[in-house]
Amino acid sequence: MQRFDVVIIGGGCAGLFLAEKITDRKYTCALVDKDPVAGHASTRNQGWLQSGSFYAAAGDPSAAEECRSGYEYIASKYPGVVLQAAPSFCMFDQKANLDRALDACGALGIYMERLDAGSVHSLFASNPLLQETSLTHIAKTGDHPFDTRKLLQGIADKIGRNGASYYRTRCMAGVEARPASHAGWVIDIQEDQLSGEVLVLACGVYMKEILQGLWPSKANEMNLTKTPVLVIKGERPLSDCALMTPLIESGPVAPNIVPFGRAGIEGVSVCLSRVDAPATDATDEDLANLPFGDFKAAFAKSLEKHYPGIKGFVERYETAGHFYACQKVKMPSRGASIEFHEDGGRMLAVYYPGKFTSSPISAEKCAERIMERLRGGTSGAAVSPRTQTRKHAVVKQQLYYEESQYKLRTRNGILEFEGLLST
Ligand SMILES: Cc1cc2nc3c(=O)[nH]c(=O)nc-3n(C[C@H](O)[C@H](O)[C@H](O)COP(=O)(O)OP(=O)(O)OC[C@H]3O[C@@H](n4cnc5c(N)ncnc54)[C@H](O)[C@@H]3O)c2cc1C
Repeated sequence: MQRFDVVIIGGGCAGLFLAEKITDRKYTCALVDKDPVAGHASTRNQGWLQSGSFYAAAGDPSAAEECRSGYEYIASKYPGVVLQAAPSFCMFDQKANLDRALDACGALGIYMERLDAGSVHSLFASNPLLQETSLTHIAKTGDHPFDTRKLLQGIADKIGRNGASYYRTRCMAGVEARPASHAGWVIDIQEDQLSGEVLVLACGVYMKEILQGLWPSKANEMNLTKTPVLVIKGERPLSDCALMTPLIESGPVAPNIVPFGRAGIEGVSVCLSRVDAPATDATDEDLANLPFGDFKAAFAKSLEKHYPGIKGFVERYETAGHFYACQKVKMPSRGASIEFHEDGGRMLAVYYPGKFTSSPISAEKCAERIMERLRGGTSGAAVSPRTQTRKHAVVKQQLYYEESQYKLRTRNGILEFEGLLST
């Protein structure tokens, strides 16, 4: 049995950044994930590095503050992953909402600047999607798209050099954790058995399953949702800037449009935050094939309502899109959630980072607390770094740039998605 100070189940942004913080401090750490690692929310999200302006505008100052710190950390430490060429704008349907957002950002020290009429005009002229938008109260923000895969690969490489061990499992159900008869935990992963003084569950939506066996009352409190994301690619990108719509009082869904790719910008992802649906226990493969009949109509309606210019755009350019579902853990706050359970010789941490953007900051907080425990030295675990990685973790972008399943088109003046697969 391999023995570690800390065993982390889940190698998304939460687990990888935490492993970095632990191995930087020369403690031994094992990271357990599927292969390829980080194939869930961390590489399927919108890839939007959030300055905090969105949450400040939406009235959630604590999530805004966490994003502000995470944004500064990532932008200064990993400038190569940030798509600086794509600017970002926050769009409002009413002037009063923009005024409130400016005040909220000002109070938190987050950059947001009202665009004057001349700047709005030239922004609209250079961005086809905006030419007929109904959201005319606009502010510039410091947000940018970023390459989450590239960032996580850098962290995976670093923790490998730091001596962390990476264990892979073929399926999620293949990992079982249980209290050891002595201090610590035993973790079974198919042919391997590990032990750790501290066990961290950083496995996103799969946290609930493992927690159910270890701490059922906490598992029952967890609310899981799935959020459909629309990816649009075409002959020309829909937008060359990120367009955020945090406060739309008049509509049920408010699309946020984030461009992805590098220099030429390959397309955009559109996330409709208010169409969260209860999560299923769908397997990874099922997620790619969920029937999105209702969501398709909701997406088209919402896009058309808030970005009417999109119709003229799709009439002129061939544009195609596909959906994928990304499951997430819904906590009472939109910020990070770190909970510890201690019982004699062992510690269990249940860790969800809130946003990808804030994950380096919440990982640091989580590591600090774990360090307090390890420095207490109840188990006498070794503190020298391991010299060999068991397997190298390779991060792969999942389902983000895959083949399109729908074509976006207008029929009788109405925007709709035409199924490419069903015809
Ligand atoms: C649609 C959507 C869009 C988003 N957009 C943004 C955005 O633009 N910007 C932003 O900052 N944040 C965004 N977020 C939030 C952010 O992506 C998530 O908060 C973050 O990625 C969660 O990271 P995680 O490491 O906790 O989970 P995950 O990335 O899901 O990682 C969990 C890992 O655990 C592994 N795992 C699970 N169970 C097991 C098991 N039994 N054994 C081994 N391994 C296991 C999985 O393989 C996976 O790699 C978005 C979220 C969603 C859902």
